[in-house]
Amino acid sequence: MSAALDEIRRTVSGLHQELVRNRLVAWTSGNLSARVPGTDLVVIKPSGVAFDELTPETMVVVDLDANVVEGEYAPSSDTATHCFIYRAMDDVGGIAHTHSPYATAWAARGEEIPCVLTAMADEFGGPIPVGPFALIGGEEIGQVVVETLSGHRSPAMLLRSHGVVGIGPSARAAIKAVVMCEDVARTVHLARALGDVTPLEPGAVDSLYDRYQNVYGQH
Ligand SMILES: [Zn+2]
Repeated sequence: MSAALDEIRRTVSGLHQELVRNRLVAWTSGNLSARVPGTDLVVIKPSGVAFDELTPETMVVVDLDANVVEGEYAPSSDTATHCFIYRAMDDVGGIAHTHSPYATAWAARGEEIPCVLTAMADEFGGPIPVGPFALIGGEEIGQVVVETLSGHRSPAMLLRSHGVVGIGPSARAAIKAVVMCEDVARTVHLARALGDVTPLEPGAVDSLYDRYQNVYGQH
């Protein structure tokens, strides 16, 4: 159990650097968490600590009700949100949150990102949805995420006037969701600057999604 916890501490600490490397975060905004497999524990970023000061030891361990179990620092101000999602969605093992600029520009407009690229059909299985505005700090954002992403193919969504949430079976999958979300948000923005865009046909989206999810890559 302690070995599993140590491994998740290392993973979550290390993967925070992917947020920096992919230019998804500014200063201390953005965070990542992971469920410790087979437990009711979550490892999450400490609040307000610089990304280059994050280590496995500075990560905070909380229970599913957001009570601190281990850690010298206070947990991220989004901890209640993360815990709400883990309680409601059993298959979620990792959650990432950013204010990455292109995706957040769509969020500022309260607009979903239309599915106009094969890469979007592959990864998100349709448009990237946008949820209603919710205040930070409590469980409201968690409720919005659960309502928006339950039963949805997309592992990422926009929070109106706020930013991006990505979920997945692991912390790495959640990071991938927010990285790919920013990538397509940028491309679709550029496309719209050139003129109108046309969503892919639903049948093509289904076929691309199925191929990418079930056939693509190493098996
Ligand atoms: Zn935020």
